[in-house]
Amino acid sequence: MGSIGSNLQDVRQRIARACQSAGRSENSVTLLAVSKTFPGDAVRAAHAAGQQAFGENYVQEALAKIAALADLRPQLQWHLIGPLQSNKTRPVAEAFDWVHSVDRLKIAQRLAEQRPSGLPPLQLCLQVNISGEASKSGLLPAEVPAVAAAVAALPPERVRLRGLMAIPEPAADLEAQRRPHRALRELLNALRDAHGLELDTLSMGMSADLEAAVLEGATLVRVGTAIFGAR
Ligand SMILES: *Cc1c(COP(=O)(O)O)cnc(C)c1O
Repeated sequence: MGSIGSNLQDVRQRIARACQSAGRSENSVTLLAVSKTFPGDAVRAAHAAGQQAFGENYVQEALAKIAALADLRPQLQWHLIGPLQSNKTRPVAEAFDWVHSVDRLKIAQRLAEQRPSGLPPLQLCLQVNISGEASKSGLLPAEVPAVAAAVAALPPERVRLRGLMAIPEPAADLEAQRRPHRALRELLNALRDAHGLELDTLSMGMSADLEAAVLEGATLVRVGTAIFGAR
């Protein structure tokens, strides 16, 4: 592993190459740097190398980091990508820009009620259990249309449904990696075409499978290890 700055360059280049082979423009994919378990100084180093969007998994850890980096606000964007319990929604509604891990209507309702009116709307994705494992969190694909319609109907000045997020099973080869990403894209397309929802975000792809995700239409990849090192 190199420095955070050179790792970031490498990851940006991987995204650019995948965009090229997919015939997509480079700026159609946002890089989210997943800083969970790494200290605020690592976020500062990434920010100094031009990175602005950061992903965190654990609410308490994230809130401490967001407070410690308050001097960089509003240049930073904070995305919650880890599980969210309903008793933790208030600080999340107050401190984050995005939540990718909405897995039931009640969470979105609470975020909408608790989003301070002085802030822009909180941007939401529904987490989908796309590989269908019993142990993983996320909505089953069949549950998504009804929940998406209900979340999209919440007050738009408080929360905005942007799309879908998934954490597919690890797979060794590119073709196997592409399958669940393709399924998530098809689900997003169905929400747009059959249900008329205006969604633009496919949050999928991590250090090990970002190429597969970009080839299948990811608009945001969440990369930790390849930027900050092993956890
Ligand atoms: C940790 C995490 C990532 C980043 O994973 P890496 O393999 O380190 O790139 C992405 N998404 C979620 C939801 C995570 O929890």
